[in-house]
Formats: sequence, structure tokens, C-alpha cells
Amino acid sequence: MKKFLFSVLFLLCAPSYAQTEYIESLIKETYSLYNGPAPYKEPIIKFVTDQEIDQFVCDGKCPFNVIGIYINDVIYMRNNWDADSDIQASYFVHEMVHFLQHENNKLTGSETCVERHTLEFEAYRIQNLWLLKRNKQIPYILLLRLTDLSSHCN
Ligand SMILES: [Zn+2]
Repeated sequence: MKKFLFSVLFLLCAPSYAQTEYIESLIKETYSLYNGPAPYKEPIIKFVTDQEIDQFVCDGKCPFNVIGIYINDVIYMRNNWDADSDIQASYFVHEMVHFLQHENNKLTGSETCVERHTLEFEAYRIQNLWLLKRNKQIPYILLLRLTDLSSHCN
């Protein structure tokens, strides 16, 4: 437990102690909502600029505000991510699900379009579940994500 807290502390760029504790609780809550074994390692969390995250997601031309992204063992969050906002915190939960999918060999980078949509669906389902457990109203845009989009793959 102490070791785990240390690793999270170490990887964050100068977070406050309260923020580190909160992120640790978000990680544990995601483990409990995810239907699969707990991973052998902890996620790496990095805070990056808006420009960096937009570059990762859509080559610097994002038409929407991307809060976080998961790439190869690393959860990247915008450095202006507002963890006090439950909606924004739920996006960390979403990226945590992708970490767990990766650790459980479900997210390999070579999935089909339908498989990719299924993994996204799972991430949004758990994100919304986390918001529901906090008695938060789920924004319409997040409810829409529970629509099965795999028909777009044909
Ligand atoms: Zn996702």
C-alpha cells in the first residue's frame, strides 16, 4: 500500500498530497467497477499541456476538448484537469478502464473496428456507472456513448 502510494506520487508532476490521495482513490474505485482481475502493475500518470494531448489524439487539430488519453501504459491527463469536477474526474476513470483492458490483454492495438467500439463502450459504461454512484446526472453526451456504434464499422 505504501509502495503503491509512493509510485503514484513519484510519477505525478508535483501534485498536492490531497490530489495524489484522490487519484489513488479513483484508481481503486475503477478496479472495483471493472469486471476483471486487478493488474500486476500500477498505471503511469503524466500531466501534459493542451497542445501535447491534442497532438496525441488528433494531430493537433482536435475539434473537441480532450481531457485524457491512454497510450501504452501511460494515462495522459491535461495539466489543467480539474479533479474536483466529478465529470472531469470521470474521464480519468475512463482512461483507467483502458489501462485495465490493456493489462488484461483486451486492448492490444490490433483490434477490429467492432472490437474497438466494444472496448470504448465498456470504458463509457464504467465511467457513467462511476458518476451514477456519486449521484451525478450523466451528461447527455456521455449517455450517447452508450449507444452501440459498432454498426458504423460495416
Ligand atoms: Zn476511450
